[in-house]
Amino acid sequence: MSEQKACKIRELISAIRKNERFMVATHVNPDGDAIGAVLGMKLILERLGKKVDIYAQDRFPPEFEFLPQARTIHNKPLESAEYEVAILVDCGDFERVGKELSEFISRVAPFVINIDHHVPSKPFGDIDWVETSASSTCEMLYDLCMSLSLAPDAALSSVLYTGILTDTGSFRFSNTNRRVLEIVSVLVGMGADPAHIATHVYDSATPEKLRLLAQVLGTVEFHAGSRIVTAELNRSMFSDSASSYMDSEGFINHLRSVKSVDIAILFREINNGLVHISMRSKGDINVAKLAQRHGGGGHRAAAACRIPGSLHLVRSMFIGEVVRYIN
Ligand code: 5GP
Ligand code: MN
Repeated sequence: MSEQKACKIRELISAIRKNERFMVATHVNPDGDAIGAVLGMKLILERLGKKVDIYAQDRFPPEFEFLPQARTIHNKPLESAEYEVAILVDCGDFERVGKELSEFISRVAPFVINIDHHVPSKPFGDIDWVETSASSTCEMLYDLCMSLSLAPDAALSSVLYTGILTDTGSFRFSNTNRRVLEIVSVLVGMGADPAHIATHVYDSATPEKLRLLAQVLGTVEFHAGSRIVTAELNRSMFSDSASSYMDSEGFINHLRSVKSVDIAILFREINNGLVHISMRSKGDINVAKLAQRHGGGGHRAAAACRIPGSLHLVRSMFIGEVVRYIN
């Protein structure tokens, strides 16, 4: 472990030991790593005898409901609560926690800790522990456990395993390395059950979700000699198939499966006049830089941003920008 990382973890542990009342929050539209990290941080703090409330402003996908304590995540601020410390996990920047929660945190928490693995656009936090080389925030929480000499039990192992599993694309993306596999091997030894977790996370979709995917795949187009693939999801597709925006998480992975593709892009109409653009690259092209141009962010190989405009215009404008970017 680098001296810089060891120093951040020491600072973090000292702040945890000195305080009693914590809140932990994660980003809007939480994914597996966000949920795993919120639950993991709660389990760690409770093992240390602390009081903890956990928050995610948006509902999380139903495939994560099986995780221990998932039902204890609050969507709304507990207005009467008082905290000494707010810990934000997996939030690229402070605003990613959502408008309501960011205002709440600014009001109630005098001390803020950031634990994250995204490329930061605006660093924040009284303690700002960011490891862009970590596969996931859950991997960082594993390091925290080791520094605390806290052996993860089955519940903690399961939530951390789930975050690492989902953020590495089931151990396929370039952030999968020997250390990640060593960590998950320990977590499995402590009680995380890979087949049980994979069944919940990947094989528990609804019929509506599969129908929605079929519609989205019907909009696939290739550009720049098939180096770029795009697809879109408009509002009417949701009403057609009785599915929700949440159902479309993970669809972009189907796009990147084509051999010639360097960048996959999914355009999702989130409300009239705003388009969420998800991007995945196979590593050589830095899509976080593209996302940052439009106020978004993420990682080198997985990033997103939101652009106002009609789905049709945003899609054609953005494809033009990406073609110029890769040439
Ligand atoms: P997704 O395509 O799944 O929505 O997001 C891809 C990656 O970019 C995720 O790691 C996500 O946390 C990050 N991301 C998505 N939207 C934003 C944003 O508005 N700002 C920042 N900084 N990161 C984002
Ligand atoms: Mn993450």
